[in-house]
Amino acid sequence: MTSAADFYAHVQQELQSIEAAGLMKRERVMTTPQGALVKTQDGRELINLCANNYLGLSSHPQVVQAAHQALDSHGFGLSSVRFICGTQDIHKQLERRIAAFVGCEDAILYAAAFDANGGLFEPLLGEQDAIISDALNHASIIDGIRLCKAQRYRYANNDLADLERCLKEARDKGARHVLVFTDGVFSMDGTIARLAEIRELCDRHGALLGIDECHASGFLGRTGRGTPEHCGVWGKIDLITGTFGKALGGASGGFTAARKEVVELLRQRSRPYLFSNTLAPSIVGASLAVLDLLECSTMLRDKLEDNTRFWRAGLTAAGFDIKPGSHPIVPVMVYDAVKAQQLSARLLELGVYAVGFFYPVVPQGQARIRTQLSAALDREHLKKALAAFSQAGHELGLIKG
Ligand SMILES: *Cc1c(COP(=O)(O)O)cnc(C)c1O
Repeated sequence: MTSAADFYAHVQQELQSIEAAGLMKRERVMTTPQGALVKTQDGRELINLCANNYLGLSSHPQVVQAAHQALDSHGFGLSSVRFICGTQDIHKQLERRIAAFVGCEDAILYAAAFDANGGLFEPLLGEQDAIISDALNHASIIDGIRLCKAQRYRYANNDLADLERCLKEARDKGARHVLVFTDGVFSMDGTIARLAEIRELCDRHGALLGIDECHASGFLGRTGRGTPEHCGVWGKIDLITGTFGKALGGASGGFTAARKEVVELLRQRSRPYLFSNTLAPSIVGASLAVLDLLECSTMLRDKLEDNTRFWRAGLTAAGFDIKPGSHPIVPVMVYDAVKAQQLSARLLELGVYAVGFFYPVVPQGQARIRTQLSAALDREHLKKALAAFSQAGHELGLIKG
């Protein structure tokens, strides 16, 4: 038998091994709202290139005002799950509005997209069914699938041939319902899923298609309605999960959108919905204001697209190796983990906040700085940030000339 002291010693050892592997995550403390510029506790002002604040709505005056108004009209909290006494008129409005925005019949709110994914699969599918999941899907999708008894298949990232192999295998083994699930956008690479082709494959094999739109809702596609709009299959996706914690205001909250009978079954059976508190009224009110803003103008997503083009062209001209594409996630490839950390540290000294990612978050030898654009950023911010990248890149021998 071991003692409690042994347990605490074990925890200390785990922490030491994380530290020794250079994998300890340390949180930088900011003292300002989220925005183009943020201040850290030591009083330094940084150009922010690492928030999911794609549309600059995290501190947008109309969004903040809507949160204040909902606080006054609907209170601070509801102290209840939805089915007891946690549903207000604004929760029902937000469900209708987000469903219409992403192109589905109905939607159900969750405390976070992590919960939407965590509570999605188990109520809908059983042992006789199969889930086919992209190898690079988000952790919350992986966890959600683990909680479900369906047979599991994994296909290589965005690889249609491998997906078809899985579809055939699932059918050969007699699976009843087959669900293919993918991120609309993969967060480490900014890669956009090949949804039109995936939809076509699913149709051919009688499979359902579900997507996670956390890095797409609000800005991808001509009117910001996400990956399906970008790929020309808007309104043709069976299940869509997403977050209010990124582009759509950045506070918190998630949703699943689908046909109304699917949403109804989730309301009856989805555990993170049934056993967790309702969304705070201020977040619901602010999220409604976000949808008002996005439905009446594409100005913010257009500015984001413009910023992304400028930033990708600037980094490429400076000689950096970036992951190609069009998404505002722009990974600057460094490959070596130590170099990536050095680049991030030097950028901080030069007033630019951009974080390095390395193993195990990305594959071994694929270390990078992940930059993320925002409509909050102006040309001047981007020019200064490009100058800082060039200087640091030269100093570290990452670029020549
Ligand atoms: C951020 C993210 C989530 C989690 O969203 P939360 O609302 O913060 O829980 C889920 N899936 C993907 C792909 C994400 O990027």
